[in-house]
Amino acid sequence: MGNKYYMGLDIGSTTSKCLILDNSRKIITKSLANAGTGTSGPDRAVGSALNEAGLHSSDISFVVATGYGRNNAKGADKTMSELSCHARGAHYLFPDVRTVIDIGGQDAKALRIAPNGNLLEFIMNDKCAAGTGRFLDVMSRVLELDISELSNEALRSASPAKISSTCTVFAESEVVSQLSANTPICDIAAGIGLSVSSRVSALVKRLGAVSEVVMTGGVAANEYIRQCLERELGLPIKTSPLAQLAGALGAAIFASEL
Ligand code: ADP
Repeated sequence: MGNKYYMGLDIGSTTSKCLILDNSRKIITKSLANAGTGTSGPDRAVGSALNEAGLHSSDISFVVATGYGRNNAKGADKTMSELSCHARGAHYLFPDVRTVIDIGGQDAKALRIAPNGNLLEFIMNDKCAAGTGRFLDVMSRVLELDISELSNEALRSASPAKISSTCTVFAESEVVSQLSANTPICDIAAGIGLSVSSRVSALVKRLGAVSEVVMTGGVAANEYIRQCLERELGLPIKTSPLAQLAGALGAAIFASEL
């Protein structure tokens, strides 16, 4: 019998992620397009994953779509909530995970995970851009930094700037006035990181953090924020280069089980 392939498609608010597994649950390929729901992002993510794997859409046995835009996914056999998919994806990457912190483009979530990778309970902030990737995107634009440079800047800071506004619009004004006062960029970047980590750690504390703690979502690539969260929660926090793909990975795992 030939190999079978399973696709997970995570259509987020900001990015689209696609991942293909084979029937031994090996990751065949993955792709990310920097555009989310309602854009060409999902089609581009699927196209480049298929292309890279040398596969055609008819080679895929089952497709599970997840994420904010999952109900607009073309060609999906089933949709699943991103909560269950991030839980399952984090469990594949770290089998001992009990708590997942998922910070994406427009929300932040804390999940409690059962030993088998099932979701037990969760808590989320999707009401406000503070404490999400959107906050970082807005601030990095003001600082004229690429989103991937924000963490390295922050890690150089010995004296983080204080950013006290909870509202993203007011916090942006604070950043502008810090720039105008010649506060070093690294200190502003650190203040921005701390603003996100303090909001997210308050969310995680409401759920109660239990080891192992794993970060998923695009903001997991921000090492400074990961370190701040470790300090604020008093627990080690693991992450993976596949953190942003965790939802697509979980969706592909579900596709292989259905
Ligand atoms: P969604 O699923 O809601 O589209 P993602 O989990 O893909 O969100 O996360 C997107 C967010 O990740 C962006 O808003 C951005 O702030 C952050 N991000 C993306 N790439 C990086 C990077 N290289 N370093 C730090 N943060 C990043």
